[in-house]
Amino acid sequence: MNDAIYKAQHYEIEIIDMGEGGEGIGKIQDFTVFVPKVLLGDRVEVCLTKVKKNYGFGKMVKMITPSPYRTVEGCEKETACGGCQFQHLAYEKQLEWKRQKVENCLKRIGKLEDVTVQKTLGMETPYHYRNKAQYPIRMVEGKIEIGFFAAKSRRIVPVTKCCIQHPINTQIIKVIKAFLNEYQISIYDDESHKGLVRHLMIKTGYKAQDVMVCLVINGKKLPHSEALVESLKAIPEIKSIVLNHHMDKTPVILGKECSVLYGSESITEQIGDLKFKVSPLAFFQVNPIQTKVLYQKALEYAALTGEEIVWDAYCGIGTISLFLAQKAKKVYGVEIIPEAIENARENAKLNGLQNTEFYAGKAEEVIPDLYKKGVIADTIVVDPPRKGCDEKLLETLKAMAPQKIVYVSCDPATLARDLAYLTREAGYKVEEVQPVDMFPHTTHVESVVKLRKV
Ligand code: SAH
Repeated sequence: MNDAIYKAQHYEIEIIDMGEGGEGIGKIQDFTVFVPKVLLGDRVEVCLTKVKKNYGFGKMVKMITPSPYRTVEGCEKETACGGCQFQHLAYEKQLEWKRQKVENCLKRIGKLEDVTVQKTLGMETPYHYRNKAQYPIRMVEGKIEIGFFAAKSRRIVPVTKCCIQHPINTQIIKVIKAFLNEYQISIYDDESHKGLVRHLMIKTGYKAQDVMVCLVINGKKLPHSEALVESLKAIPEIKSIVLNHHMDKTPVILGKECSVLYGSESITEQIGDLKFKVSPLAFFQVNPIQTKVLYQKALEYAALTGEEIVWDAYCGIGTISLFLAQKAKKVYGVEIIPEAIENARENAKLNGLQNTEFYAGKAEEVIPDLYKKGVIADTIVVDPPRKGCDEKLLETLKAMAPQKIVYVSCDPATLARDLAYLTREAGYKVEEVQPVDMFPHTTHVESVVKLRKV
């Protein structure tokens, strides 16, 4: 039982955990308090702003002892743009928080008590790792701003320097801003759905340092585009300049059509020995350095000998499939986006891999269908979106009963739910769980899990 806890009262608490949005979590006896703009390990005085039955919200009124895990490295703007939640938490602590988060989900949601979660595999230099940035462009008090939307808002926080994006972006932003100002190009307005320029997307191939600049416009043509091309060409890394035509009134960033203004329609990225075409619209993992770590772990868990038939469900542009194909007899990939499947086929060709076959469709429809037709699997890799695997796919996995399942997950909560089914209903044992830090300074965590049929 708690003593009476009232709104507007002050309490001294220690921040013992951090939530999804990076908010601090502390306790007053067994009453939980959520506090923004504090860090794990801080001791603070809070004033309660909202009080519910078992939990409430507070704001910090005084820092009593700053967290020993605070670091001064990172972004000057703290969490202003809403992209990073952990900028000022020591990197080692971030990695431990992520390991703990996966373990907590497996225990609390999956009721998997005896599973050990390995230490999170982190980056040696956890900065400037992102190969893709999408900056909204809007008018702010009569001035053109290029930045990020603040957390849970459409307010632009201008970006001058960002610790997780490629440093070349700063240079590109300057050129784009100067061009838009010089030629007085109209800027998109969300309310009226008027104005031309909506977003700037930059993609980078880290291996070759090739850059693609994509301007998202609410129309067919960009006036004076030749002048833009001329000024961007002064940056030698830029190999592709494209327009994305997006005339719908929606917060979705990209439209479905692109046209090339200069150079090639895609850039190339290399992960390990494999090359991948990165086009403006296709999904590609955002951290190429850690993608290699993640895929190598998946490959290690699959432990292929060259004789296996392997399925890669939710395969995107076939990245994991091609890693597996180097070591397997045959790999089948399934993905819902038809263009991604086209890319997967091209990527297989680009790398001279002939033992792959790709299907466009829902994993929960394509795999049961092919299974009914007699297709089998020795190993299945799944890499679903945040909502996890569809129930029908899980039931098919149970029926197909491959010796090994490798589960790659970007959400520990749905991972825990699916592992509960696979271990309790489908006869699998979790052998190892490995978190990989694909998104330093954010609360996101990726995991790879090795399951074996018992
Ligand atoms: N394995 C890939 C992509 C993982 S992201 C990589 O590492 O790059 C998850 C992918 O699942 C996305 O490409 C998404 O388009 C796809 N997807 C979402 N729902 C799906 C479904 N029901 N069936 C098949 N693919 C799906």
